[in-house]
Amino acid sequence: MRENPEAIKSVCILGGGTAGWMAASALAHKLQGLPVSVTLIESEEIGTVGVGEATLPHIRSFNAALNIDEVTFMKATEATFKLGIEFCNWGRIGDRYIHPFGDYGTPIDGIPFYQYWLRLKQMGEAGRLDTYAYPIAIAEANRFRHPASDPAQIESTFGYAYQFDAGRYAAFLRRFAEGHGVIRHEGKVVDCQLNPDNGHVAALKLDNGAVIAADLFVDCSGFRGLLIEQALKTGYDDWSQWLPCNRAVAVPTESRGGLTPFTRATALEAGWQWRIPLQHRTGNGHVYCSSFISDEAAHARLLGNLDAPTLADPRQLYFTTGRRRQFWNRNVVAIGLAAGFLEPLESTSIHLIQEGITELLQIFPDKHFRQSDIDEYNRRMGVNFERVRDFLLLHYVATQRDDTEMWRYFRNMTLPDSLEEKIQAWLTRGHLIRYEFGVFLPPSWVAVMLGQNLIPRHYDPRVDRLSSDEVRRAGDALKQRVSAAATATPDHGAYIRKMGAAS
Ligand code: FAD
Repeated sequence: MRENPEAIKSVCILGGGTAGWMAASALAHKLQGLPVSVTLIESEEIGTVGVGEATLPHIRSFNAALNIDEVTFMKATEATFKLGIEFCNWGRIGDRYIHPFGDYGTPIDGIPFYQYWLRLKQMGEAGRLDTYAYPIAIAEANRFRHPASDPAQIESTFGYAYQFDAGRYAAFLRRFAEGHGVIRHEGKVVDCQLNPDNGHVAALKLDNGAVIAADLFVDCSGFRGLLIEQALKTGYDDWSQWLPCNRAVAVPTESRGGLTPFTRATALEAGWQWRIPLQHRTGNGHVYCSSFISDEAAHARLLGNLDAPTLADPRQLYFTTGRRRQFWNRNVVAIGLAAGFLEPLESTSIHLIQEGITELLQIFPDKHFRQSDIDEYNRRMGVNFERVRDFLLLHYVATQRDDTEMWRYFRNMTLPDSLEEKIQAWLTRGHLIRYEFGVFLPPSWVAVMLGQNLIPRHYDPRVDRLSSDEVRRAGDALKQRVSAAATATPDHGAYIRKMGAAS
């Protein structure tokens, strides 16, 4: 192997939560064969944030890139399959819809099916939109199967993610990372030494006296951002004016009834409540805004809504929505909660961790730390955060609710231009502006906009190539295909057991 004196020889990851162990696993695996050491520091005394159970389908490509076997992973993390998120009471009290990881049928003449549905709606003949989507039909019936590979089959029109125990996932990845040579140090970082010449982080001192030096540091220290903020004073863009929820209370309950292959998010007076079914328990929490409800009332609201006995005391969490001004500053890259936080309404945090790791590997530096690379990384991650912010905000503003102070706050809000422009294009003719980056593709935007009663004034004019009868027949045929395929799909819990993935 060619010896490169400019190459990074050592990477130190601070933090052993989901972010830290995902970063350690990916770096150890993808840099193997190179003379780079990867170390990770974590403090059991400080612990991890202890929440983060619902994911997006992209997690599958993260696991696959590390050659992690699905059955082994699901068994180790008590995972269930996730087909999407059910949103209750968001458009109006009493409304419900599922945002699926998939589509409503397949395009007709290259035009997405929802455009035909809009025409059926104008004709006064549209069924409930959810009945035209296979992933929704199986989610509602607690069924699951892996997607079919033949694109002609309705069973191919979806993706899936997992709901898992994040603590067990971190432990699983720790075994993986240590098996790939990562050195773990237990201890609390008490001092961060900076290089006086360039302001780079040079070494971290632990409470047991050990000093860990490295060329590159990955800050996965959680909300405190020990390196990116406390040492390098990078700054934080506070997005609370758009997403004002700033607290959460979480509590696990016993697993009851069938295993639902979806997460539920129920809108409340001053926030919303999550329900995430795992094999061994159900995760619950109430995300809320402290300007509109007290902690005591928020706790009572959560406990009053539970459908099974609790397994632990409620846990209080505090956060400020926003992002670090630079995700990468000098020789420190912040990933996970140290990089920023957006409320977990669409389960995006672990995905943003994955994006951060992927981008870092793509622009892996040498000891010169070129500013153009750092700027590009920051630009990409900044756009990713903004796209998620806009999509989350859509849930709060595409609503007819004005029954409490929080909902009225959203009514009077000036939206970011990027979201305003997207909503206006949609309302005009159901057109979705597709962005350069962003995790949520048009079907996701369609699901939330239509699910929350944001109906465009016109549909795509090309739909008029079909007669009313043809549109009617196409809608009926799709509904029947969805329903027949759903009936033939196995029960979710039974499917997990048959795979050998039950714990
Ligand atoms: P942490 O878990 O806080 O880990 C920080 C690590 O740094 C710990 O190991 C700690 O010991 C270490 N550390 C800190 N300081 C020191 C020090 N001085 N010395 C040594 N070690 C130190 N994400 C999702 O994708 N889906 C969800 O459903 C979801 N739900 C969430 C709900 C809530 C209410 C919240 C707040 C977050 C949620 N998230 C969710 C986000 C998710 O929990 C985090 O993104 C994820 O857990 C990563 O956290 P982390 O590893 O960055 O930080």
